[in-house]
Amino acid sequence: MSTTIEHDGLFIDGSWVASDGAQRIEVVNPSTEQRLGSVSAASTADVDRAVAAARKAFVEWSAKNADERAELLNRLADALEKRGAEIAHTVSSQNGMPIVVSTGLEAGFPPLLLRYYAGLVSDQPSVTRRAGLFGGEIDVVRKPMGVVGVIVPWNFPQTLAMTKIAPALAAGNTAVVKPSPETVLDAILLGEAIAEAELPPGVINIVPGDRAIGAHIVSHPGVDRVAFTGSTATGRSIAEACGKLLRPVSLGLGGKSATIVLDDADVAGSMEEFFKATLLNNGQTCFLGTRVLAPRGRYGEIVDILAGLAHVATIGDAVDESTMIGPMVSARHRERVEGYIERGKTEGCRLIAGGTRPDREGWFVAPTIFADVANDSVIAREEIFGPVLAVIAYDDVDDAVAIANDSPYGLGGTVWSQDRDRARAVAQRVETGTVGINGYDLDPAAPFGGVKDSGIGREWGPEALDSYVELQSIYL
Ligand code: NAD
Repeated sequence: MSTTIEHDGLFIDGSWVASDGAQRIEVVNPSTEQRLGSVSAASTADVDRAVAAARKAFVEWSAKNADERAELLNRLADALEKRGAEIAHTVSSQNGMPIVVSTGLEAGFPPLLLRYYAGLVSDQPSVTRRAGLFGGEIDVVRKPMGVVGVIVPWNFPQTLAMTKIAPALAAGNTAVVKPSPETVLDAILLGEAIAEAELPPGVINIVPGDRAIGAHIVSHPGVDRVAFTGSTATGRSIAEACGKLLRPVSLGLGGKSATIVLDDADVAGSMEEFFKATLLNNGQTCFLGTRVLAPRGRYGEIVDILAGLAHVATIGDAVDESTMIGPMVSARHRERVEGYIERGKTEGCRLIAGGTRPDREGWFVAPTIFADVANDSVIAREEIFGPVLAVIAYDDVDDAVAIANDSPYGLGGTVWSQDRDRARAVAQRVETGTVGINGYDLDPAAPFGGVKDSGIGREWGPEALDSYVELQSIYL
C-alpha cells in the first residue's frame, strides 16, 4: 500500500509553516493516476512573509565573505546528494520523467551547480582596481542585488530552481522560490536539505503556489530581481511586469529546435544520442530538436530510422528503470499534445508512428513521428512539449539552415555529421543559444539560454554569476 505525503509545504525563515489560507495543492502520479499527496498553497500574505524573511536574511548573508558562503553552499550540496535517490523518485512520480533521466539530471545537477558556483565565487575578488583613462584609479565593486524571485516550471523542477539559486546565493543574494503546482513534493526535500545544511534562516524560502502567487512575487516591492523559466506566454507577461518596474529579469522560455541531419551523418550508429536530443523526458524538455531536417537524398532512410526508434522506445511507469517514455505531466497536458497530433493529421502530414494512446492507465502518448511536414505547418511552428517529431525535407545545407532559422524560437538544436568541423560550421549559422554536435550534452560550465521567443539572458557558466550582481564604480 502506498502512503501519501501531507505536508505544510511552505518553508519560510528557516521553518516549515502552514499557509494562512485554507487551500491545498493536490499532486497526482501521472503514471498511475493515483494521488501522491498535498501541501498547503501559499497565499499572498505568505509571500509577503517570505519576502520579508529574505530581506532580513540578506543583511547577514551579503555581509559574509565569499568563502563563508561557499562553505554553506557546499554543505547544501552534501545534503542534497544524500537525498539524491529520493529526489529522483519524487520528481519522476510527479511529472513522469523516466527515472534514469531524473537520477542523472534532477539528482545529479543541483549539487554540481552548488559546488561549481561555490568554487567560482571563492576565486573571484569582490573589488577590482583599474587604472582610469585620466590618470586616476577606479574600484569596480561587485554587489549582490538583494532578494531574487525564483519561478520555475514542472519539467525539471530541482535543476531549474538550483540553476538560479546557486549563482544568486553565491553572489550574496537571498531567494524566494515558487515551485510549479505539479511538482511541490520534491521541494519538501530541498527544504529539508536547506535545514540540514544550516543555511541561515530566510536565505532560501519556498512558497508553493499557482500563477497568481507567481505574479505576486514578480511585482513584489521587496523583490529586486526575477529569474524565470517557463512558457513563452508567461514569460511575456512577466517581462511586461518587470519592464514597468525596471526590475532585472532573466527568462528561459519555450523552444522548437531543429535537428539538422547532414548527408554524411551516421544516424543509425547514434540512436541513443539521437533519442536524447529529440525525445528526452517524453518530449517535455525545452531544448529538444523536434523538427528533424533530413536531406532529400536520405529522407526515406531517416524516416524509417525514426519510425524504428518510436517503436522500440519502452513506454512505462516513470519510476521503472527500463522506461524510455513516461506519461505526460497531466491529463490536460495530454489533451493538448493529442490536439497537436490531430492538427498534424488534418494538415496533411504523414503519420508514420504513434499518434495513439497506449492501452494502459496513466496519461501516456505513444512516441509519434510525422513525415512530409512543411515548416510553416502548426506542428512545425508551435511547441508541442510531448513525444512528437516532425520530419522536414531539405535540398542543401543553405536550405537546412534557412529552415532551422525560420522559427519564432531560438533555444537549442543539433547538427549531425561524421565531419565535426563541417557540423561546427553549420552550427554557427543556427540562430539559437545552444547547439550540440552529434548529440546534445548540456554542460553547466557553458551559458544556456535562448534568443527570439526562447527568452532573454543566459544561465550557467561564469556569465550567470555576473547576472546576479550589480557593478559599482568608485572613482578614487
Ligand atoms: P508555465 O509558464 O505555465 O509555468 C511556469 C511557472 O510560472 C509555474 O511555476 C507557474 O505557476 C508560474 N506562472 C504562471 N503564470 C505566471 C505569471 N503570470 N506570473 C508569474 N508566474 C507565473 O510553464 P510550464 O507549463 O510549467 O512549463 C513548460 C514551459 O517551460 C515550456 O514552454 C518549456 O519550453 C519551458 N521551459 C523552458 C526552459 C528553458 O530553459 N528555456 C526550461 C524548461 C522549460
